Order: sequence, then C-alpha cells, then structure tokens
Amino acid sequence: MTTSPLFYQAGPDMPEVSHGRGVFLWDTHGKEYLDGCSGAISCNLGHGREDIRDAMLAQLDRVAFTYRTQFENAPAVALAHALVEMTEGELEKVFFVSSGSEAVESALKLARQYFVARGESQRRHFVSLRPSYHGSTLGALGITGYEPLEAPFVDITTGSIKVPGPDFYRHRDANRDAHIRRVLDETRVRIEDAGGDTIIAIVVEPVGGASTGARLVNKTYLQGLRALCNEFGCLLIFDEVLCGVGRTGSWFAYQQWGVAPDLLTTAKGLGAGYYPVGALLAREAVVETVMASGGFQHGHTYAGNPLACATGLAAVEAIRREHLLDNVNARGHQLQQGLETLRSRYPWIGDVRGLGLLWGVELVMDPVEKTPFPAASNLFARVTSLAKEEGLLIYPRRTLNGLAGDHFLVSPPFIISESET
Ligand code: PLP
Repeated sequence: MTTSPLFYQAGPDMPEVSHGRGVFLWDTHGKEYLDGCSGAISCNLGHGREDIRDAMLAQLDRVAFTYRTQFENAPAVALAHALVEMTEGELEKVFFVSSGSEAVESALKLARQYFVARGESQRRHFVSLRPSYHGSTLGALGITGYEPLEAPFVDITTGSIKVPGPDFYRHRDANRDAHIRRVLDETRVRIEDAGGDTIIAIVVEPVGGASTGARLVNKTYLQGLRALCNEFGCLLIFDEVLCGVGRTGSWFAYQQWGVAPDLLTTAKGLGAGYYPVGALLAREAVVETVMASGGFQHGHTYAGNPLACATGLAAVEAIRREHLLDNVNARGHQLQQGLETLRSRYPWIGDVRGLGLLWGVELVMDPVEKTPFPAASNLFARVTSLAKEEGLLIYPRRTLNGLAGDHFLVSPPFIISESET
C-alpha cells in the first residue's frame, strides 16, 4: 500500500471524495453524505453550482491573476463595494486576503499601525476572549484562547490579554444581566491592570465557532465593549471569519445587536468554498490615518486577485438573487426546533445555541452540573465518526478544561431545503 505524502490527513480510514451536488457529497465508493457543516463552514452555497463555475470560467478566460500594485481589477472593486454595502456603509474600506488567518493578521497590524501613526506606540496589547479561535498564523494564534492549539507556541507568539466572554449556559451569576456585568467588569480590571493606554484593540467573535460551539454575545455585552473601547481609546475588532457573510441570517452577525466594530474580518463563506478569498473591512478614518503615514506595511501575494474576487462576487450575488438570507432564517428556525427536540429527549445534550444556520450542540455527562465528559473519552471524535457512518457531516471540538464541553457545530449550506433540514 502506498502511503500518502500528505501529513494533515486524519487517518487511513478517511474516504476519498468523488463529487458534490447541492448539500450532498459522495465518496469514491458511492456513499452519500449530507454536508451538515458546509465543509469547514465555508461551502455556504452547497456544491457543484453552475453559476459560480460560470463566473469563475468567465474570469479565467479574461485573466486569473494580476498583482494589486500593478493593476486595478473590476471584480475586486465590485466585491469591495458589495462588502461595504453589506455593512450599510458602516465600514467604508476593504483590504482583500486569501484566508481568515490572513484577515486577522491584517486587522492586528492595521490597528497597531494606526496607533503608531498617531504617535501612540505605547499601545501594544490586544484583549481577546478565552475560549476563542482567530486563526493559525502566529499573530492570530497569539490572540486565540484555545489551549491545545496555543500550548506549543505560547513562548513565541505576541499573545494577548485573555478575558472571559459571555457564557449563557455555564455561568453561575444570578441572571444574564449580572453575568454580563461581571464579565465586563473583569475585562475592565484586566485592561486597567495592563494600563488603558497600552491597549490596541478588543477582539471578539460575535458568534463563536469551533472553539466555543457557537456561543453568542448579546447587545448589552457589545455595548459594554464599545463603551470600554471609547473610554480607553482603543479599537473594537469583530472576527466574523466564520459567522459573517450571511451565516447567522444577516450579512454580518453584529448587525443583529446593532453595535458596529471599527475593523471586521471575514473569509470562509465569502468564496463559498469555490476559491479562497477573505477581507478586512475598516472604518475610513483608521485607514486614512495609516495611508497618510506612508501606507499599510502589509500584504499577501494573492490578495484581491481577479479570480478570487470574481468568485466572491458571484457568491454574494447568488445569496442576493436567491434571497438566501430568508432561507437561512427559516431553515435555522427549523433546525433549532429539531435540535431542541433532541435535547428534550437526550439528557446528555446539555445546550443548543446559535443563530441562522450556525448551531452549536454541547454534550455533557451530567445535565444538572453540566459536567463535561472526560477529555480522554474522545467523545467529540466518536460522535463525529458515528454521524459520518450514518452519512452526516458535522464539525466537532473537544472538551476545554471545564470552559466548555464536547460540542459540534451544525451549519449546513444556505440552500438547504425544508425536507433536507
Ligand atoms: N477566525 C475565526 C473566527 C475562525 O473561525 C477561523 C477559522 O476557523 C479563522 C479566524 C481562521 O481562518 P482560516 O482557517 O481561513 O485561516
């Protein structure tokens, strides 16, 4: 038997994919899988779409790659306009990248450069949540609060001040308001300890992804963060790499709570799985300050290339044309009801939470104490492989030292029908 040279493979039993159509994938043995997690929450429009293929082919026939310092390209300009419009003009500037980690790196560097340009070089700390996930590159990993990923690299990342975020399932406060007050108070104390004028930005995922199992914030929390940013003069960054571009039923998740950030990152679903494309969106004032100081000292080779942007544009246009945000909301409601029914039936389903078509299901040993299963049980891996055997793909994560139990994400493509849900 030949061994594969790939070293990210999960194991020798992994099936080989043959093809995909709609919300389904087939392996080379003909087995069918419902893609219940849109790949890595990225294939938002399902598989085998002709409109996206046609848009990509049309662009390939014109030109696939040009470099951003040599040519402007129409798809990049059009996609940038579309993104600004999706924020209703709240964020006016766009910087393209090819992945979520690159979007986060770009946000961190733009934020730092903004303060350097303003003569505030003493600002050198980011504040982020534990648990959280912001990417795999060293900067993005530095602000990530997920120990198994951080551990080998803590000594060589920039790091961040890690504070707790809202946890509406496990908190032990009197009620949600008291919980939010406590979380914000703790954030304030940590900022004051570091020195308010040393903070560059607070970075949060409005709806968590795999690290939290779709934990939610609420309006009071986001308003509280905005107030802290105003008070200490730092920026507010929302990482919507996973929850942006319609996944939660609005173009961006933050819009559901009406508190806008200064910078926003998005990727995953932007290219709908057909080509890598991500973006950093920013307030004009931040960008103007940086540009006036000599330009943004940052960039990636493939950023904003015509093929990537034509793909992203075709994906955004498809969501608009087919009114898919309405379907995300309708199917999301149906999915929530289904998952809640399962929860009422099985005590080991501790919590069901989410928005739109992004749902987290947390598994617990004891529903009253909310005790997670021991990490050694590898429950998350067992549940995922059982589901896969049954022909359902879900997105799992393991227990995090009592911060969260084993959980998985259910996040099917936006085109899923009532009967497929
Ligand atoms: N930020 C968030 C919130 C994510 O969920 C992810 C990926 O899961 C990233 C950043 C990193 O994105 P990528 O894997 O495209 O680098």
